Amino acid sequence: MLENIILQEKLDAIASVVESGKRFVVLSHKNPDGDAVGSSLALCSYLRALGKDVCVVLPNAFPDFLSWLPSVGDVLLFDSDSQRACNAIESADAVFCLDFNSLSRLGNAAEPVAGTAVPKVLVDHHLHPDDTFDVCISCPEACSTSELVYRVITGVSGAGAVSFDVACCIYTGMMTDTGAFAYASSRKDIFLIIAALLEKGIDKDLIYRKVFYNSSLSRMRLWGYVMAEKLKLYRKYNSALITLTHKELMRYYAVKGDTEGLVNQPLQIKGVRFSCFLREEQPGKINVSLRSVDDFPCNEVAAAFFNGGGHKNASGGELLCTMAEAVEIFRAALFKFSDKLTS
Ligand code: 5GP
Ligand code: MN
Repeated sequence: MLENIILQEKLDAIASVVESGKRFVVLSHKNPDGDAVGSSLALCSYLRALGKDVCVVLPNAFPDFLSWLPSVGDVLLFDSDSQRACNAIESADAVFCLDFNSLSRLGNAAEPVAGTAVPKVLVDHHLHPDDTFDVCISCPEACSTSELVYRVITGVSGAGAVSFDVACCIYTGMMTDTGAFAYASSRKDIFLIIAALLEKGIDKDLIYRKVFYNSSLSRMRLWGYVMAEKLKLYRKYNSALITLTHKELMRYYAVKGDTEGLVNQPLQIKGVRFSCFLREEQPGKINVSLRSVDDFPCNEVAAAFFNGGGHKNASGGELLCTMAEAVEIFRAALFKFSDKLTS
């Protein structure tokens, strides 16, 4: 038996939205990761099995290692298909917002979503959700939004509503958001859910290989280059920094997803508690990824220095500046948070 972490009245509210609508849009955040895509496609499959007309809209492209997920071919990318995505949003009876806590995380899709009068349902595990949602399921204790979608589906329709396809998507989201159950995954319910997903016939080893053994040679070379030349330790602050300029990414033919997980690597070094990865997406635009262990709050660093936010141990943000300026901002952040980093 799973512990109840979603109030029955919230499940009832979702059941009523599902029952009274015919067309739904499922949305997740910009730069979608395994949890964003997995939770969205799981909910989509579930709703379609109920006979609903469902469109999944993601703000921009997702990494290739997710391209095998069931029904992934039906996903609309807002940035490349905005007219169709807007039409779907405008004609929906309700929109489901998964794995983000603020409409600003939708990038260009934020405006049409903010403009709809239909119910907005949030299912998410980030702290501090905005008050724009009509039904708000926000459980930061969950390992992933996919875990919450599993709970919503089984809470509303019972375990029988979890199909093989739903199970594959849920497992992928849970696995990717926990580094294959290496962090944020010490609650026993996670393993009870995995057991239930295995009963649906998923092959967890195969899913692992599809997601993590999907590298190109150039990605392997890029990671080797980073480890040999681009990883800098700040011993005094128990911290590490990786930087990659746009030019360096081009040199290694980097494609979306090639740097996914890179920021976690320095945490393997004894004593390192905080890791930062600055990736120059385009000249002058730097994507920031932060990871920490134990109590160090990288979401506070993201909010104070990098125009972002996230979870305590996994956060991100964005800077519009040069790499040299971004490194200075990182150094200022270490200095500001030195008490928490050195204690
Ligand atoms: P990643 O480093 O994988 O891009 O992001 C890690 C986590 O940080 C995401 O799951 C998300 O919770 C959060 N995050 C990343 N970028 C942003 C951002 O720009 N704003 C906020 N609020 N959170 C972010
Ligand atoms: Mn997530």
